[in-house]
Amino acid sequence: MANGATTGTTAATASVSAPSLLMRPIAWIPEARRRQLGITLLIVAALAFPFYIDSNDADVDSMANAAAYATLALGLNIVVGYAGLLDLGYAAFFAIGAYTYGILTAYQLQPPWNEFWEVFHTLGLATPVPADVGTGMVVHFTLSFWLALPLAAALAAFFGVLFGLPTLRLRGDYLAIVTLGFGEITPIVVRNWSDLTNGAAGLNGVAAPQLFGWSFGVNSVPYYYVAIAMVAMLIFISVRLRDSRIGRAWMAIRDDEIAAGAMGVDRTKFKLLAFAIGAAFAGMTGVFYVAKLQTATPEMFGFPVSVMILVMVVFGGMGSVWGVVLGAFILQLLQSWWLQDLTEWTHMLGRAVGSTILQKADFVQSIELIFGVILVFMMLYRRDGLIPAVRPQKALTMEQQHAEVRRGGFSDLKLQGLGGDVRTGAAALEIKGVTVRFGGLTALNKVDITVPTGSVVAVIGPNGSGKSTLFNAITALVETDGGSVRFHGEEMIGLSPHAILEKGIARTFQNLRLFTNMTVMDNALVSQHTRLKTGVLQAIFRPPSTRAEEKGAREWAMEVFSIFGNRLVPRTEQMVIGLSYANRRRIEIARALASRPRILLLDEPTAGMNPAETLELAEQIKSLNDLGLTVLLIEHKLDVVTRLADTVYVLDHGDVIASGTPAEVRKDEEVLRAYLGRNTQAATAGVA
Ligand code: ADP
Ligand code: MG
Repeated sequence: MANGATTGTTAATASVSAPSLLMRPIAWIPEARRRQLGITLLIVAALAFPFYIDSNDADVDSMANAAAYATLALGLNIVVGYAGLLDLGYAAFFAIGAYTYGILTAYQLQPPWNEFWEVFHTLGLATPVPADVGTGMVVHFTLSFWLALPLAAALAAFFGVLFGLPTLRLRGDYLAIVTLGFGEITPIVVRNWSDLTNGAAGLNGVAAPQLFGWSFGVNSVPYYYVAIAMVAMLIFISVRLRDSRIGRAWMAIRDDEIAAGAMGVDRTKFKLLAFAIGAAFAGMTGVFYVAKLQTATPEMFGFPVSVMILVMVVFGGMGSVWGVVLGAFILQLLQSWWLQDLTEWTHMLGRAVGSTILQKADFVQSIELIFGVILVFMMLYRRDGLIPAVRPQKALTMEQQHAEVRRGGFSDLKLQGLGGDVRTGAAALEIKGVTVRFGGLTALNKVDITVPTGSVVAVIGPNGSGKSTLFNAITALVETDGGSVRFHGEEMIGLSPHAILEKGIARTFQNLRLFTNMTVMDNALVSQHTRLKTGVLQAIFRPPSTRAEEKGAREWAMEVFSIFGNRLVPRTEQMVIGLSYANRRRIEIARALASRPRILLLDEPTAGMNPAETLELAEQIKSLNDLGLTVLLIEHKLDVVTRLADTVYVLDHGDVIASGTPAEVRKDEEVLRAYLGRNTQAATAGVA
């Protein structure tokens, strides 16, 4: 907490050259070993816990509950922390898991017995019992706890997708409100579907777990170990997912959803995946929770519970696996241990000083107030939580910045993944009659542009003439009102942004859209998303094929970074947020290139760069084109256009008013008037 005031933006740039006060006692342990050692100690402590507290059942019980909340926090962390989707109704999935197990083990649902149930009887899932009323036999479900864990996880995941579907188009406030709705609906359904859930009275006689015929009963210790095992497993899954293609896709969506789509992430799929996995964690926890309490009531899953889990995530550090676990434990134990003690001490103090207010204070009852206060303090002084997901980064030393890096030597780069297209003269990109309207404004009016394979085509025009809109139309970020965009003969209109990137059209944005809370390397890995195959299971188990794929992706990204030499190569593990503007421009280009495009769309790549940097970048673009990469370029600086472009198209108010070689266009009267203003003489001087 020493640097408690350090917040997101500054944390990334802060230098930590000297070991902090906290780290000094363990400074002698090699850095690589520290984590292993820490985790080992933690595991040993967790396993030994029930032994060294004189088997005080209440304390073990509190710890087991805290662990259950840690699993919930880990699940919500995937939705909120990783994917950036604010979910205020997360407890709904907790309820779904809880009632799945509850209903299938309690004496609530009892259909009449017939042959149909024999199969379930053989499988040990149901057993015939005499009916309470009338005669005959009824079914008593006896779902095993261990079977219920994955089953409830799957069912909750299904509901996660179901709840996720209608909310996908929404973000921020709207998403929060819809999830709040689902969070409210679920307990109400539970309360009113009495046949199934026994309504507000709750399910009774939920079965305790059994292990080899031995029932857990009401002994807290076995529950504690199950909970700890669940936390350990979910920490492992969370970490593995975070550091994989899947986690990167989520974080890209969190940082900039539009850019994520344009860089090849199927946003619909990955948002649903986050919802589903987060829900699965909660479903599993629900099974554990009701098995431990042996009852389930609607109040256990209301809005305050959703809020509490969210507070745990925020308190611990959104997106930080260890942070949210710590946050959950602290806040849960705060309630069950410390607030109780604090209340008693306050009462004692009250009696001693004769204050009735102190004698009546009850901190346990004021838990929501205390949560509120904690939240306010966290937002004011430590917005990134107890353990921030983004660590403070070391600034580069002079040596690192100036280390010898291959630079400009394109010929020896293994950049075959780029272009490779030869100048056949055939059209790579064929834009025909593309029109885009924004209400009454026609931003593009039946625009025709052809980009031959292997060439550089520039689009110029005054501000607001529709250049960026043209790129947005090609990459499906705006809807077109007619026209066609063919890429190597294939129609692009109607495809989604990620599909267009997959076809080989990559772009940069005029107003940088990088994933700022990710490293430079991760930015270039996100854009390879569609070229990689790692799924959820591969991400978790990391088979050799997945390791090889990751390694290959990183090597390719480094190849691409080396185009920009020292500017990027020493900085690949830095957060984008701490880098200079010119470097961010380069990263955008590198990110687009990493996707192995067949055409690169550059929207004012040299904006904000000084003349030397502009020249350097122009040379780099030229070299890329020499490798066979087709380039469509929006550029304001006419010297760059003259240097690079084979063909220039001039846009004005959404119309193509001229096209030809740079020399031809420069002479065009209409262009001079539209583009350079009335003072043509001065402007021509500037161009030449
Ligand atoms: P340029 O890149 O050539 O400077 P743009 O393509 O960004 O121009 O914009 C062309 C016109 O379309 C401008 O008048 C702009 O205000 C308008 N425009 C661009 N995007 C939108 C949008 N999403 N909604 C409404 N109007 C837009
Ligand atoms: Mg623009």
